[in-house]
Amino acid sequence: MRKFSLVQPENLKELVAFLAKADGQRVILAGGTDLFSLLKDEILNPEIIVDLSRLKELFGLRQEKEALRIGALTTISELASSPIVQKNFFGLKQAAQSIGSPQLRNVGTVGGNLCQRPRCWYFRDPLFQCRKKGGSRCFALNGRNKYHAIFGGGICNIVHPSDLAPSLISLEAKIKIASKDGEKEMLLADFFTLPSVSLRQENKLQPNEVLTEVIVPKPSSHLKSTYVKFTERGSWDFALVSVAAAAEVQGDILKKPKFVLGGVAPIPWRLTVFEQMIEGKKIDEKMAAAAALEALKEARPLSENAYKVDLASVLLTRATMSLLSR
Ligand SMILES: Cc1cc2nc3c(=O)[nH]c(=O)nc-3n(C[C@H](O)[C@H](O)[C@H](O)COP(=O)(O)OP(=O)(O)OC[C@H]3O[C@@H](n4cnc5c(N)ncnc54)[C@H](O)[C@@H]3O)c2cc1C
Repeated sequence: MRKFSLVQPENLKELVAFLAKADGQRVILAGGTDLFSLLKDEILNPEIIVDLSRLKELFGLRQEKEALRIGALTTISELASSPIVQKNFFGLKQAAQSIGSPQLRNVGTVGGNLCQRPRCWYFRDPLFQCRKKGGSRCFALNGRNKYHAIFGGGICNIVHPSDLAPSLISLEAKIKIASKDGEKEMLLADFFTLPSVSLRQENKLQPNEVLTEVIVPKPSSHLKSTYVKFTERGSWDFALVSVAAAAEVQGDILKKPKFVLGGVAPIPWRLTVFEQMIEGKKIDEKMAAAAALEALKEARPLSENAYKVDLASVLLTRATMSLLSR
């Protein structure tokens, strides 16, 4: 690990003022569960690390009339054990509980989970100068690509590793971003960027900005949500494929369904074709499975990951039936 300076702002005002004037490469530190491995492997070599741990205003959950507000420094454990999340957002609770190990969930934060870097083994290996690190090729394209993208890849075939992101997008969550110029909100769905838009970065955050809050709108009384995740190992693991689903359930009909896949694309991948095929129709398992297969025809698997199409089809069907049975 190379030498760096550590900056510890006392509050948000101090932080955004520092981000606005800082020269040199700097990165934000929350729980450090992802960042430290990137520093140790010298995938990132910042001159300055900006530690958020003193920013009290970014910790914890707050229930307001129209929304649940989750501070960026809220730990994943706190999110998973929140009575409000357990009562109103079953899918988000499942997604949070599926992350890593208890130790990781106790330290890793919600903001860090959304901004974590990809797990692609070529990106994480200091010996491979892949496109994401400024090189000229994606090694996964003709290399070992079992864990890579089946949607939205091409020039870079990472998959987005976050379990919270697909679930929060299915709940139509927004995020708040702060800079010296003030605060802005955007849909979390609009935050993530494909490699064709920004190759070196997975989201729209500018160097002078920080993610401060996630805002989950109050659900309607009919809203149900679920999260199904398939991993290679029984203990902690990232998703090979996951499906976050949310919809207003009326009998065996789903209204305004949102289905977002994890582990299949460089960004959480909304499957609107599937949503359109099942919305407002009487659903049974056979119909859901047929719609899933049809919607997944858009997938473009690489040489070693066509299994993800079959897996996604099963998980889409399971997520649909799970919404209807809850
Ligand atoms: C062994 C292991 C298993 C894991 N398993 C899973 C899993 O199953 N599912 C899953 O979803 N994740 C998994 N993860 C990832 C883990 O959830 C993330 O490492 C964690 O959520 C990151 O949070 P953090 O607070 O530690 O972030 P940090 O490591 O501090 O930061 C991560 C990145 O986000 C940036 N960042 C952090 N906070 C902010 C902010 N507020 N504004 C702007 N940028 C910010 C940092 O600059 C850095 O680039 C795993 C990680 C490990 C090490």
